[in-house]
Amino acid sequence: MSGDIPETTPLEERLIDLIKLKGPITIADYMTDALTHPHEGYYMQSSPIGADGDFTTAPEISQVFGELIGLWLVEAWQAMGSPAAFNLIELGPGRGVLMADILRAARLRPGFAKAAQVWLLETSGRLRLEQQKRLKPTEAKPLWADDYADIPPAPSLIVANEFFDCLPIRQFERIKSGWRERLVGLDEKTGRLGFTLGKTPPPPDYDLPSVEESKEGDIFEISFETRKFAAEICKTLIEQGGHALIIDYGHMERGLGDTLQAVRNHKYWPPLASPGRADLTAHVDFESLADAAIDAGAAAHGPVTQGRFLDRLGLALRVEALCKGQTPENADAIRSGAARIASPGAMGEIFKVMCLSAPNLPVPAGFES
Ligand code: SAH
Repeated sequence: MSGDIPETTPLEERLIDLIKLKGPITIADYMTDALTHPHEGYYMQSSPIGADGDFTTAPEISQVFGELIGLWLVEAWQAMGSPAAFNLIELGPGRGVLMADILRAARLRPGFAKAAQVWLLETSGRLRLEQQKRLKPTEAKPLWADDYADIPPAPSLIVANEFFDCLPIRQFERIKSGWRERLVGLDEKTGRLGFTLGKTPPPPDYDLPSVEESKEGDIFEISFETRKFAAEICKTLIEQGGHALIIDYGHMERGLGDTLQAVRNHKYWPPLASPGRADLTAHVDFESLADAAIDAGAAAHGPVTQGRFLDRLGLALRVEALCKGQTPENADAIRSGAARIASPGAMGEIFKVMCLSAPNLPVPAGFES
């Protein structure tokens, strides 16, 4: 970036040409290209995660996160009758840290790793290499999938941390007379990407808030991709048995608000600037996720806040066990990492945890009412 003007990227130029030719595109199409375009997409281009990347995540901050989830998975597997063969699936595994921590904690029950076929759903070739490297020392022989549908059906335990926030959303803006879709077009002054509005009202089955429930300028978001993905996962859970543990930042209840955000180098960035060079996400609407699961015939537990979930899984005890025998500096680092992922002022409250489950299974740990 030079001065305050974000650089143009090859992807921005392609999108500008496309919009000149065909007109504005949906925010969902913009997000898909910006994140997962085979050559220019953000996840193909950069090393996004960690201190040297653009953002960091709970498993990167504290090993306790993945260890507690590993123990949760072992318990869930046992409550399913310890199936001798099952899929342990991670959606969007990043640098493979969470899966490595899960597998280490799960060594407590050797049968778990023996029965598990690890599947990693990952779009980025670069991140696949990192995952491969990190999981090499474990006994898991992971397989990778481009599409969820490529994973052969089996009883499944699915984990997704900060995956659903990458799935494309569409936005709608309240104008005086009703709703219009917010689209990505060209800014009249600069000729670069800018927001614009669709000309016709969206179909009634989009179920947007009524005119009384909203005011001019309000934004409403829908992620059709999230709903479709949730339904697909739930089909496996219902037919084969299992749970999907979904952790992400988002809201418990559907509501108005613009949550599309870009982050670059640990700072907010304008969402339409330099596509392919900044991470682009939206908050997860957990109410819609639960509705999609219930409509598909699955059960939805939670969401509970990440802080509460980790506390219920025994965060404090695990932290103290890890601190034993450590130098005071190391013990401080372990405690402050744990505080960052669980305390309300940091990641403990904005992040939520939801579990989608086969309907006949007992309520999993952490979701008791
Ligand atoms: N779960 C990791 C990484 C979160 S970042 C962690 O907690 O650290 C999001 C991850 O999802 C990255 O691995 C990214 O490459 C992957 N991803 C994003 N969109 C995807 C898609 N449509 N299909 C498959 N993987 C995707």
